[in-house]
Order: sequence, then C-alpha cells, then structure tokens
Amino acid sequence: LFVTFEGGEGAGKSTQIRLLADALRARGLTVLVTREPGGSKGAEAVRHVLLSGAAEPFGTRMEAILFSAARSDHVEEVIRPALAAGTVVLCDRFMDSSRVYQGITGNLEPALVAALERVAINGVTPDCTIVFDLPASVGLERARRRGEGPGEGGPDRFEKEELETHEKRREAFLDIAEREPLRCRVVDALQPPEAVAAAVLAIVEPLLPI
Ligand code: C5P
Repeated sequence: LFVTFEGGEGAGKSTQIRLLADALRARGLTVLVTREPGGSKGAEAVRHVLLSGAAEPFGTRMEAILFSAARSDHVEEVIRPALAAGTVVLCDRFMDSSRVYQGITGNLEPALVAALERVAINGVTPDCTIVFDLPASVGLERARRRGEGPGEGGPDRFEKEELETHEKRREAFLDIAEREPLRCRVVDALQPPEAVAAAVLAIVEPLLPI
C-alpha cells in the first residue's frame, strides 16, 4: 500500500504521518515513512542542492528535472522494493507536489511536467493521496512559528514566498483532488491534530492489507 501526503507549508503532514505510522505499526504492519525531495541516498543529495541556496541560478526547468531525477532514484531504490516486500509506504510529498510547485506556481509547461512525472514514477502510482487543506495564511504562520525548514535547520527558500503563491498552490492541490477522486482524499487540516489523525486513519483503514 502506497500512500502519499500532500499540501502546503505548515499543514501538519509530518506530524500526521508519524501518528499514522504508529497506529499502523501497532496493528503489526511494516511501515516505511519517507519524504520528498529525498528518501534515498541519491535523492537526499539532490534535496540538499534544491533546498539550499545553491539552486538559486537553476531556473524552473532545471529544478523540475532535478526533482524528477530525485524522485526516480527514490522510487527505484526505496519505494518500489518496499512495496514489493509488502511494506506500507507513507511518503511526505510526491508527484502532486511537482505538479503544483513546478507546474502551477512554477509555470512549467504541462507537457513537460507530465513527461517528467511519467519518467520518475515509472508506474509506481500512489494507491491513495491525502491532501491536507488549510488556508495558506494559517499554514505559513504555523511554519513560521515552528521556525524551521524541513530538516535543513532554517526556513528553506521555497517557504519564503508570497501568500498569494501559497493560496494558488492550495487551489491547485484541491483541483487535483477533485479531478482524481478515486486516488485523492482531502482532509481539513484546521481541525485539532487528534481529529486530523482520526480522519486520516479512517481513509487508510479500508485500504489496509490486513
Ligand atoms: O514538505 P516540506 O515542506 O518539507 O517540503 C520541502 C520544500 O520543498 C517545500 O517547502 C516545497 O516548497 C518544496 N518542494 C517543491 N517541489 C516539490 C516538492 C517540494 O518546490 N516537488
């Protein structure tokens, strides 16, 4: 079972993934928690380049290709083997983040976004994608209060963007969810963490192998 978690900054994805992993492990399931960009040795190296200042001169096209290279490594080295072994894979961001960050707010041509996606995922499509939805202003405030970027010890360059851009991303994630209702489910991330956790578990439970 392959579940991906999507949404803007400060939506509480990582907390909720941890809670879900605990709940699933308590049922005896083998669970792998992973994230993008990163998740494999090669992809973590690319993550470092993408989220540090080093990527500043790259431009969206190059950036998108790098995200895709990282995803390909992550899929082939980590996700596909884990799924083959019967592990439940929970991934913090996946292809929808590329559609939204590089495609929608990065203004990259849809054809290129789609082509890169195909190459990177190479048939490994999420069984379920949970979109954490909340107003961008709330998410940004949460992320700011947390005072940290994703593991790099400071707000990364992607988090320093305009509120308007973040609202656009929110709409784009909702749009994907609407277009692919069989794969995607939207969770109201404004609720208290316990309520979000319950909603997430209710979505995943019917999909479990046992
Ligand atoms: O999930 P998290 O917020 O830790 O993601 C790290 C950053 O990478 C995000 O702030 C997001 O802006 C950026 N990102 C991106 N394109 C992707 C995936 C992530 O711009 N495809």
